[in-house]
Amino acid sequence: MARMRDEIGAVDKEAPESVALVYPSPYRVGMSSLGYQTIYRSINDSNGRAAHRAFLPDDVGAWRQSRVPLLTYEKLRPVSDYPVIAFSVAYEAELAGMIETLELSGLAPLAQHRSPQDPFVLVGGPLTFSNPLPLAPFADGVLMGEADQSIHDVLGVVFGSASKADALRVLADHPHVFVPSLHGDVLPPIDKAEDATLPAFSQVITPHTELRNMFLIEPERGCHRGCTYCVMRRSTNDGMRIVKQERVLSLIPDHAKRVGLVGAATTDHPQIVDIVHALAESGREVGLSSLRADRLTDDLVSALARGGHRILTTASDGSSQRMRDAIQRRTSEAQLRQAAMLARRHGMKRLKLYVMVGLPGETDDDIDELVELGKELSSTIPLSLGVAPFVAKRNTPLDGYPFAGIPLVESRLRRLRRGVRGRVDVRATSARWAWVEYVLAQGGRAEGLAVLDAVRAGGRFSDWKGAFEALPPDRRRRSLVRPGDRLGRAS
Ligand code: SF4
Repeated sequence: MARMRDEIGAVDKEAPESVALVYPSPYRVGMSSLGYQTIYRSINDSNGRAAHRAFLPDDVGAWRQSRVPLLTYEKLRPVSDYPVIAFSVAYEAELAGMIETLELSGLAPLAQHRSPQDPFVLVGGPLTFSNPLPLAPFADGVLMGEADQSIHDVLGVVFGSASKADALRVLADHPHVFVPSLHGDVLPPIDKAEDATLPAFSQVITPHTELRNMFLIEPERGCHRGCTYCVMRRSTNDGMRIVKQERVLSLIPDHAKRVGLVGAATTDHPQIVDIVHALAESGREVGLSSLRADRLTDDLVSALARGGHRILTTASDGSSQRMRDAIQRRTSEAQLRQAAMLARRHGMKRLKLYVMVGLPGETDDDIDELVELGKELSSTIPLSLGVAPFVAKRNTPLDGYPFAGIPLVESRLRRLRRGVRGRVDVRATSARWAWVEYVLAQGGRAEGLAVLDAVRAGGRFSDWKGAFEALPPDRRRRSLVRPGDRLGRAS
């Protein structure tokens, strides 16, 4: 397979206990996931176990027509042959990919329709930090939170049990495993890995991802800040955990010419400037996720420029100062102006700013403030705005806030685009798909079952909308669709 020939670091291991590690999005997305890569290495490092990868095919329709069952990359073995299928799910909409990969494997997507001899379907990943309930009808077990260590507990129980039912009974007592068939809708708390297991880092480097040939490493995990819309805020797993510079640098292999430093708040790492300098001095290209505007100093931006950064990316999140204050996003206009100045001074081509629209309490005036700021920044350096509609997540202070409504979000986006036309490049996430994300972020089992209907109906937006709207109000976890506005306009 061409993709595997181009990889560095893939593990080709046979072992008595084998796991199909499935990412429910295409290869280029799955192989950019540090969590997925970390679990892949961790299982393969353990005695007597092997993990083999599989992904949602790039063209699901063509694969389905071919009638070839979904196969693992390492062994070309049908996924349904493995005793355990472990999914990593990052986003709500990937539930559709999970359903499709199960069907392409010849398995029933619903746990209750699978036999005791069918593989054990285990789910983990970032979605478990907020709301995994829509996964409940499809999973045998859900590993909540950081799975770095608990994956081994769970696999030990599953491989060591005489039957799936026995394994489920034992796992139901694990403090961080959700067993949908035994726990109802009561979720256990998320797990927190021991600091000694950090950092997560890439096992496989490949040219076939968005982050082409980039070695990813996580110099810190979590965040000590308190933005009220964010699942990774300080209350999650005790906030930020730092990995020392020496350890981070020691794990980067010589062959890695491009290094991505990823994490919720990498610029809050106390040694981040030194780490970036050290990487740039060794001739490597450096990428850095989650640049905080208040941490952008001349020294850091200069180091990033030396490491090959050509676009400086940061977030404003609120469209105005009033909105940023409301969501406790401690970024000021002055800091964003400074970011634009620094980017220009160090020869970068562009500033990219992430913003949310549709936050509770937002008005057109907030959008107009963003228009003025955007025009001002674009006179310093070319500016792109990456705009996403606000979606309330569970386990955040803004949990339960309604979606602003597709018409309202679209009208705010039109207002923004009109205001900055010819000056600022605006890229926005679809308001329609943000609504789908919202329904699942706030939903439960019934909304999960509706995804099955949507996938089987063809997976277009109209199929998702029809499936959600067909849910009887008493089966919805929250009242998502209101009379007079079938798509849930904000009050
Ligand atoms: S949005 Fe970023 S800075 Fe704010 S709490 Fe989340 S990870 Fe931290």
